[in-house]
Amino acid sequence: MKTIGLIGGMSWESSLLYYQIINQRVKERLGGHHSAKSLMFSVDFQEIKTLQDQGKWDEATKIMIESAQKLESGGADLIVICTNTMHKMAKEVEESISMPLLHIADATANEIVKDGNKKVALLGTAFTMEQDFYKGRLIEKFGLDVIVPNEAERMIIHDIIYQELCLGIINEKSRQSYIKIINRLSQQGAEAIILGCTEITLLISPDDCHIPVYDTTRLHAESAVDYALSEG
Ligand code: GLU
Repeated sequence: MKTIGLIGGMSWESSLLYYQIINQRVKERLGGHHSAKSLMFSVDFQEIKTLQDQGKWDEATKIMIESAQKLESGGADLIVICTNTMHKMAKEVEESISMPLLHIADATANEIVKDGNKKVALLGTAFTMEQDFYKGRLIEKFGLDVIVPNEAERMIIHDIIYQELCLGIINEKSRQSYIKIINRLSQQGAEAIILGCTEITLLISPDDCHIPVYDTTRLHAESAVDYALSEG
């Protein structure tokens, strides 16, 4: 079994889920008392959030690279960045290490393509919904048709992520706001919804939606286990 290196803490509310899902998946696959070999380097999220808010992405990239290198020297065989947003610098991180980086958008898009869905709505932080690093990959590498919420909706989604979900606050009113946006996106033609932020799964479950939901946290964590258990 390969050792999974996780860059966590963004936020730790979702890193907890990664830890749980990877161990559950290893148990399902191997049985007995098997559990995942893993290392986590968990950052101080306030430092990251401040850099994001100030647009200091170069400094944030430096922290991500250092975290990945610490995991590599600690014995990790692959790297998993436990957030969608911080895949903005996935390329730079990948180039700074000699082990593979499992990209969260790839883990998600592989499932979408397998299920035959094409037009998907992406929910996430404003960075993820508005910039090209994530949408671009879904479009160019996987041929998906990606739509995002309108400006007012994006603000609601972004604020709930940082002001509630990353702080472990689960609010029914916020769940209703998300459901309303998801329903509107489905009317706009979305065949499926990507929960493109690793905390949204704390708020929204497939039962809340009448179209398929792709939970990036679960898909990414499970793909890490499948890679860790693969040959070669
Ligand atoms: N976990 C979140 C994501 O998946 C947002 C927190 C962050 O800025 O990394 O995008």
